[in-house]
Amino acid sequence: MPARIIDGKQIAATLKEQIARDAAQVKSQTGHAPHLTAVLVGDDPASAVYVRNKQLACEKTGLQSTLVRLPAETTGAELLALVNQLNADRSVDGILVQLPLPRQIDPVPILDAVSPLKDVDCFHPENVGLLSQGRPRFLPCTPAGVQQMLVHTGVSIPGSHVVVVGRSDLVGRPLALMLMQKGPAADATVTICHSRTRDLAAVTRTADIVVAAMGKPQFIKADMIRPGVVVIDVGTTRVGDKIVGDVDFAKVSEVAGAISPVPGGVGPMTITMLLANTVLAAKLRMSEHE
Ligand code: NAP
Repeated sequence: MPARIIDGKQIAATLKEQIARDAAQVKSQTGHAPHLTAVLVGDDPASAVYVRNKQLACEKTGLQSTLVRLPAETTGAELLALVNQLNADRSVDGILVQLPLPRQIDPVPILDAVSPLKDVDCFHPENVGLLSQGRPRFLPCTPAGVQQMLVHTGVSIPGSHVVVVGRSDLVGRPLALMLMQKGPAADATVTICHSRTRDLAAVTRTADIVVAAMGKPQFIKADMIRPGVVVIDVGTTRVGDKIVGDVDFAKVSEVAGAISPVPGGVGPMTITMLLANTVLAAKLRMSEHE
């Protein structure tokens, strides 16, 4: 029997209804909708599309969104000054610095400079520290999206063996942290794999849930998983005019019990979690002033 498709678009649409209600509630209490400001440096076309999609999603859910565009030759000092200005701007709830930055700008001091209370991407060391201690302020968007996909598909995470392929700061590592913590949407036994893992297939074959976050198109094959497992494909690589995931979808979906497609899987969930974090940031600021 072919795998059940985990429809990220559908789950995202359901979550966005609640986010829109929450945003409207913030607006009714403060007079202002939760406000996300995105900063885009340079003219990388893919980044421009990502930022535009985030802005459209804000508009559709009743959030305010602002885009600040800076030229490709912007210096680190200039970008830092803008981030500090946005930190101090009381009308801004969430700040997103779109990556990658042009080569002359080191992203680390920039991301570290974003106020932890406006850090809706959850990149700031304070927020990553809180996450690792099991008392998160914000949840990082892509891992939170993966977790919500599992929850909304009715996959039981507690006690299951999750194999995460990829250990990046953006996806693999925070996802592993989240799923191994105590709680109903966690309590998993987590194995992290990376490019130095010996016999990857032997590890993925022991999983109940496989999350592929490698950036290697169609790398996960049908003989790397057990029948009936849940497969979440985070990968997005442009191949020609198509976006391709890390999983050989056609073949793996004949073996898996449930599988997320690319596109239409994790991507829409990531944006949705960004909206949720922006509403949360607005709520945190409201509670500060109570
Ligand atoms: P990354 O920083 O390049 O990390 C890739 C990870 O995969 C690394 O840990 C790497 O291991 C591991 N890896 C690479 N080749 C491997 C192999 N042959 N066997 C086992 N592990 C291997 O990438 P990322 O930022 O985490 O993103 C991963 C993918 O997800 C990309 O395609 C990206 O575009 C996509 N993505 C999608 C969304 C979305 O919203 N849909 C969001 C974020 C990312 P080492 O650490 O040893 O190098």
